[in-house]
Amino acid sequence: KIYYDSDADLKHLKDKTIVFLGFGNQGAAQAQNLRDSGIPNDQIIIANRKDDYAADAKSKGFTVEHDFSKAAEVADVVFLLVPDQVQPRVFNESFSPKLKSSATVVVASGYNVFYKLLDFKPTLDVVMVAPRMIGSSVRSLYVKGKGFPCFVSVEQDGTGSALPIALALSRAIGATKTGAISSSVREETAMDLFAEQALWPNIIALFREAYSVLKEAGCTDEALVYEMWMSKEPAEIFQAAAEDGFIRQLKHHSIVSQYGQLSGASKIDGTPIRAHFKDILHNQVLNGKFQREFTKIEADLEKEGDANPLNRLYTLSEESELAQGEQRVRARLGLS
Ligand code: NDP
Repeated sequence: KIYYDSDADLKHLKDKTIVFLGFGNQGAAQAQNLRDSGIPNDQIIIANRKDDYAADAKSKGFTVEHDFSKAAEVADVVFLLVPDQVQPRVFNESFSPKLKSSATVVVASGYNVFYKLLDFKPTLDVVMVAPRMIGSSVRSLYVKGKGFPCFVSVEQDGTGSALPIALALSRAIGATKTGAISSSVREETAMDLFAEQALWPNIIALFREAYSVLKEAGCTDEALVYEMWMSKEPAEIFQAAAEDGFIRQLKHHSIVSQYGQLSGASKIDGTPIRAHFKDILHNQVLNGKFQREFTKIEADLEKEGDANPLNRLYTLSEESELAQGEQRVRARLGLS
């Protein structure tokens, strides 16, 4: 089901105090959109530690509360818009114990709800309003009077009014203008983590191996880097795929290219790829294996140098022929 402005009524937000926990990418965009949709400024509180994000919120005329427990006590709605890995600690320690029993908790990603990392009293409403856009686009599209794709779901209906409240909130942030798609935290998490752990890793590996094969065949770094991505051709292909259709965009290419791509794709046996993808989806994402592993290394992500596992992965990736070749080209071109 797709929900539009006509399915949502802002009256469900009347006199509600709406707290945005976090004023980063999504928080800043969603809070401003909500206010510009007519929710009075005195109903909105930004909960943020005392720093640049808080100063930014103040400069935009918002009331800022640095004490999260105090913000929790007055919240009828709380948008959790701090990074996913931060949410369980901040919400469970400062918000959950103080929240009103009938409050609505809004997440913009399914991760913490799907993996049951947040403590919700059964009387609360728990909804997902998850824009499929970065925060700056959530704001700029709203300002242009346009909508943006967004998933919406009710995960816990403590008050019996969770859906109309979720739709009112979606409308207020500008998400029902072009249609908010009914989804669930399971679906959102499955697709998000699948893309991150199956689809894009394969694309990275395909580019890495293609680079090495062509380099070995005598192609230069400059030619390869431009041919493969710096010309922005892949970006244009995906743009055309979104506008014209995933397959139909091929019509923009030469006949030699169309024939090569379609005949090549038809000869690739999808069976091992599908088995590999299913393995990641079921044995890594849906069964929570990745989440448990990530929780174990999470604290190390704050560390410097090689003690940080993400830094080690970057170092390893930068040793690839593709990354080395790109570095040489960028240095020769004076690019950082
Ligand atoms: P950001 O990384 O932009 O969040 C920054 C905000 O979180 C700041 O207000 C920051 O304040 C606060 N914050 C960071 N660390 C802490 C901490 N330890 N304690 C308290 N506050 C903290 O987050 P996003 O907007 O990117 O993501 C928010 C949610 O939106 C997530 O659930 C994400 O999955 C979802 N989402 C994000 C999208 C995106 O484009 N980025 C797209 C769609 C959904 P300070 O550091 O000042 O305390």
